Amino acid sequence: MTHQPTPRRQALLALLALAATPALAQTDFSKVEIKAEKLSDTTWMLTGAGGNLGLSAGDDAVFLIDDQFAPMAPKIQAAIAQITKRPLQFVLNTHFHFDHTGGNEALGSKGALIVAHDNVRRRMSSDQLINFVGSSNKQPASPKVALPVVTVAGEISFHINGDEVYAFHVPRAHTDGDLIVHFRKSDVVHMGDVYFNGMYPFIDGSSGGTADGVLAAADRVLKLAGDKTRIIPGHGPLASKADLVDWRDMLATVIVRIKDLRLAGKSDAEIRAAGVTAEYDARYGNGFVKPEAFVQMMLGVLPPK
Ligand SMILES: [Zn+2]
Repeated sequence: MTHQPTPRRQALLALLALAATPALAQTDFSKVEIKAEKLSDTTWMLTGAGGNLGLSAGDDAVFLIDDQFAPMAPKIQAAIAQITKRPLQFVLNTHFHFDHTGGNEALGSKGALIVAHDNVRRRMSSDQLINFVGSSNKQPASPKVALPVVTVAGEISFHINGDEVYAFHVPRAHTDGDLIVHFRKSDVVHMGDVYFNGMYPFIDGSSGGTADGVLAAADRVLKLAGDKTRIIPGHGPLASKADLVDWRDMLATVIVRIKDLRLAGKSDAEIRAAGVTAEYDARYGNGFVKPEAFVQMMLGVLPPK
C-alpha cells in the first residue's frame, strides 16, 4: 500500500532535498537559536536558520520581514515575545523562497497579515522548481493560510511605530518577486536575497532572476542609503553602505568581464576558465555559492550575447 503525499510530507521532502545542498547539509533546527540585534528604537535584525529577519516593534504594530523555515516559527515567535508583548500583525515576504516563507503557515494561522509582491503569491500557489547549477529543489504549493493576503505590484508604505516602512519592488533581481524594505526614520534597509553580504550571490534564473536586475537593485539602495544606514542582507552579517558598494563593484566587474568575453566570441567553457572572479574569491567565494558555481550561474542569468 502506498501513501498519498500530504502537503506536510511534501514540505518535508522539499526540505530533505534542500538539505542535500551544502549550505544546509548540517542544519539541525532543534539546535538553532534566534539572535536579536537592536538597530534603532523600533527595529531589530534577527538571525537563525534561513534568511535574515527584520522586525519593527513599537507603540502601533509588530511587523516582521521574512520567517525562515517552518520549524523555526515557534522560535521566531518566542524571540519576538522577548521584545514586545503585542501580537504579530504583519509579515512581509521579501520573495517566495522557502527559507524566507516557511513560517507563513504558522504565523498566518495566528492572524498575521501576509504581504508580498504579486509574483510571490502566484509562485507560492503552485509547485515550483528552484534550479541552481545543475541541481534543483522542489518547493511545493503552499496552503492557503500561508499565502500573501495583500500583494504589491510596485510599492507600499506602512505608517507604524513612528516610522515610515517603505517597500518597493526591484524587477527581475534575485527572483521576479523581490521587495526591498526601507525603514526611513530608523535608517535601516532589508534587501532580502538581492544581497548576500560577504558572499557571491545566488541569482535564481529559474524564477525570473537576472544579474542586471540585481545590479540595478543594489544601485537603487545605494542611492537611498547614507554612510550610517544599516543594511540587512538576505544572508550574511549586517552590512554598511561601504560593504554594499564593494559587493556591487565586484558584481559589476564580473558582469562586464563575462559580457566582454561573450562579445569576443568566447564559449562558456572558455569563460569558465578565464578567472573572471580571481581577485574576489578569497573575500566572496566561501559562502553558499562557490567561485566555479558563481561563474556557471552568471552564464545563465546574463543575456546570451
Ligand atoms: Zn532566496
